[in-house]
Amino acid sequence: MPSTLRRDWITKPIYRLAERALPRLSATEREAIEAGDVWWDAELFTGDPDWNKLLAFAPARLSQEEQEFLSGPVEELCRMVDDWKVNWQWRDLPPEVWEFLKAKKFFAMIIPKAYGGLGFSAYAHSEVIRKLSSRSICAACTAMVPNSLGPGELLLQFGTKEQQDYWLPRLARGEEIPCFGLTSPEAGSDAASMIDTGIVCRGRYEGREVLGIRLNWHKRYITLGPIATVLGLAFKLHDPEHLIGDPEDVGITLALVPTHLPGISIGRRHLPALHVFQNGPNWGRDVFIPMDNVIGGVEQAGKGWKMLMSALAAGRGISLPSLSAAGAAYSAHVTGAYARIREQFHVSIAKFEAIQERLGRLAGTAYLLDAARRMTCAALDDGHHPAVVTAIMKAQATDRLRVSVNDAMDVHGGKAIIEGPLNYLGSLYRGVPIAITVEGANIVTRALIQFGQGAIRCHPYLLKEMMALEDPDRGRGLDAFDQSFWGHVKHSFANAARAFGRAWTGGVFAPAPDAGAATKFYRQLSRHAAAFALAVDLALLTLGGGLKRKEMLSARFGDILSELYLASAALKRWNDEGRQSSDFPLLEWCMQASFATIEARFDEIFANFPVRPVAWMLRFFTQPFGRRHRGPSDRLTDRCAEIIAQPSAARDRLVVDLFHPPESERDHGLARLERAFALTVAVQPTRDRMHAARVRDIDQALKQRTINESEAAQLREAADAVAAAIAVDDFAPEELVMRGANKEDVSSQPNSQPTPQQHPQAAE
Ligand SMILES: Cc1cc2nc3c(=O)[nH]c(=O)nc-3n(C[C@H](O)[C@H](O)[C@H](O)COP(=O)(O)OP(=O)(O)OC[C@H]3O[C@@H](n4cnc5c(N)ncnc54)[C@H](O)[C@@H]3O)c2cc1C
Repeated sequence: MPSTLRRDWITKPIYRLAERALPRLSATEREAIEAGDVWWDAELFTGDPDWNKLLAFAPARLSQEEQEFLSGPVEELCRMVDDWKVNWQWRDLPPEVWEFLKAKKFFAMIIPKAYGGLGFSAYAHSEVIRKLSSRSICAACTAMVPNSLGPGELLLQFGTKEQQDYWLPRLARGEEIPCFGLTSPEAGSDAASMIDTGIVCRGRYEGREVLGIRLNWHKRYITLGPIATVLGLAFKLHDPEHLIGDPEDVGITLALVPTHLPGISIGRRHLPALHVFQNGPNWGRDVFIPMDNVIGGVEQAGKGWKMLMSALAAGRGISLPSLSAAGAAYSAHVTGAYARIREQFHVSIAKFEAIQERLGRLAGTAYLLDAARRMTCAALDDGHHPAVVTAIMKAQATDRLRVSVNDAMDVHGGKAIIEGPLNYLGSLYRGVPIAITVEGANIVTRALIQFGQGAIRCHPYLLKEMMALEDPDRGRGLDAFDQSFWGHVKHSFANAARAFGRAWTGGVFAPAPDAGAATKFYRQLSRHAAAFALAVDLALLTLGGGLKRKEMLSARFGDILSELYLASAALKRWNDEGRQSSDFPLLEWCMQASFATIEARFDEIFANFPVRPVAWMLRFFTQPFGRRHRGPSDRLTDRCAEIIAQPSAARDRLVVDLFHPPESERDHGLARLERAFALTVAVQPTRDRMHAARVRDIDQALKQRTINESEAAQLREAADAVAAAIAVDDFAPEELVMRGANKEDVSSQPNSQPTPQQHPQAAE
C-alpha cells in the first residue's frame, strides 16, 4: 500500500493537476489504444532497450509446406499474370486467374486448416504477397484483401461458433468473395464519423419473421466490392424500440451482408490510379439482415470500432509492408541493372556520382524494409498484435517505397515513363499512392498514431496514470495514480541521467551486445533511445493533452520512434543472417541514415517546442554538441550503389524469393534487362581491354587484334541485348483507342450514383 502521507499530501494535488494536463481519451481513441498489444516498441520507450532480448527473438521461418506453396502455386500464378494485359487490355484479371486464386486458396491464407484454409503463418502470408507484388500489383492487391482487414479476420477473432462454421469454409473454398466496407464519402480517415445506419427492427428474412437490422449505407473505394458476394459492413446501430437492450445508440457495429439481397447496388467500379483490381462503391437502401449476421452476434453489437482496430493491428503489419518491401527490393534490383547497362557520355551511368547517390539509397532502403518486414512478421507469428509497430510499418514502408520508386523512375528516365509491355516500373509507380492512402492514410498515421497512440500505449507508466485518472472510484484511482506516478518520476530521473551521460560521452559507454562490427551502432541507438524517453516525458509533462494537437511535433516524435524500430530491425537482420560482411555497407548505410534522421528530428523538436526552457534543457541534456551524424558518407553510398550494380551474393540476398521471369518469357521487359545485365557484366573485361587500347569500335578492335572473334561475337550479343533492354513501346494511333469503346461507353455516369441528397442519412 502506498504511504498515506505521500498519497494525501503530495500525490493528491498532482492528481488534480494531472486531470487537467494529461490527454483525455475519446471513446474511439480508447478503443484504438486498447486494441492489440505492445512489443519491441515498449522496450524502446523504456529508454534502455534490452538488445539481448531483440537478438534472442526467433527469426521468422517458413515451414516446408509454405515454402512449397511459394515455389508452386505462387510461382505458377506469377507466370499466369501479365500486368500490361490485365491493366490495359482486359481491365481485369482473366477468368482462369480468378479460378486459380480460389482453387489454390489464395483468399484463405489466414483461415485455419480446420476450416479448409491454408492456415499460414504471418511470414508465409507476407512472402506470398511479396512475391506476387514483384510481378503484378493487381494480383497482389486481389490476394491481399481477403487476408487483411475483412470478414475472414473478423470472423476468426470475433465470430460466433455458428458464424465461423458457416462462413469460414465457404470463404476458404472461394465460394464467397469477401470485401469490407468501412469508408464512405463523408468518412475517410475519420471513419468513425460514418453516417451509415442500421435500425434494429423485426422483418422477414428467407420467409421467416426475425429480429434484425434495416440498413442504409453508401460506401466507396471498396476493394473486391464490385464482385463480392459477402460484404462486411460497418455502420452505426440504433435501437429506438430497445429491442436488444437499453441504449438507443448502440454504436459502430459490423455485420455480414450477402450482396444479392434486395436494396443493394454493387458492381460499379473505380479505376484506382489506372490499376484494375476490383474496387468500387456500393449502396444499400432499406436492406434487411437478421441479427445473426452481426459479427460476434448481438453481444458484439456496438463494439465494431474495437473489433476493427484489433483486426487492423495485425493485418496492417503484413500486406502493405510486404508489397513495399518487395517494391523497394525490386526497384533496387532493376535500377542497379539498368544503371549498369545504360551508357551516356560513353560511360555506364552507374559510374556517375549523382546516380550512385540514388542507387545507394535504393540498396539501403531495400535492406531496411525487408529487415523490418521480417521482424514484424516474426512478432506476429509469436502471437503479438503490436498495433503501434504495425502502424509504423504501414506508414514507413509505404513512404519509403515512394522514395525508392521515385529514385528508380529518375534513374531510368524515359525508359520507365513510356508505358507498354516493356515497361517494368510504371505499374509500381502508379500503385504507390494507393499504398500510402489505404489502411490509414500516411499523414494522419504519422501525425496521430505512430507517436500519439504509441506514447500512451507503450510508455511504461502513462496509460496506467490515465486509467487511474479516469477511475470513477476516486480513492482507488488515487491509490493507482500514486503508484504509477512515483514509478514514473523514478523512471524520468533515471532516463535524464542516462540521456545526459550517453550524450555527453557520445554514446561510447552506452549498453550494446557483443555484435562484432555492429556493436557501435547499438551504442548509438541506446543513446538515442534514452534521449527519446526523456524528451517524451518532458513533452507530455509540459504539453499534456495539447501534444495531440501539435501534429508537427507529434509526427517528429513518431519519426524518431520509427527510426529506432527500423534500425533495430536492420541490426537484427544482419545478426540473423550470420553477420555477412558483404552486407555490412548496407547495414551501415541504414544506421547512418537513421542516426541523421533521429538527430534532425530532435533538432526540429527543440527548435519548435513551445515551452522554450524545456527545449533548451532537452538540447543541453541530449544534443550538447549539436547534430553529429549527417547521413551516409559519399564513400559508403558508393559502396552500396556498387552492390546493386554488380552481380553478387549481397545483391541476390536483396531479392531472394522474388519473381524472376522464366526462360520462356525472354521478351518480357524485365527478362530483357536481366539478360542485358548478365551479358554486360560478362563482357566487361573485354571492354576494359579495348578501353586500355583506346579503341571503341568492335571491328577495329578485331582488326587490331585487341579482341578475338569469339569476344567480338559476345560484345555484339551484349550490345543487342542492351538495345533490346532499353527499347520502349510505341503504338499505332488506333491501338491507343480502347477496343470496342467510344467516349460515351467509358465515361463515368455520375447520375447513376446517389447524390448526397439521395443518400438517406444525409437528409436526416
Ligand atoms: C484503392 C483504394 C482501396 C481502398 N480499399 C478500401 C476497402 O477495401 N475498404 C474500405 O473501407 N476502405 C477502402 N479504402 C479507403 C481508404 O481507407 C481511405 O481512402 C483512407 O482511409 C483515407 O480516406 P480518404 O481517402 O477519404 O482521405 P481523407 O480522410 O479525406 O484524408 C485526406 C488527407 O487528410 C489527412 N488527414 C485526415 N485527418 C487528418 C488529421 N487529423 N491530421 C492530419 N492529417 C489528416 C489524410 O492523411 C489524407 O492525407 C480504399 C481506398 C483506396 C484509394
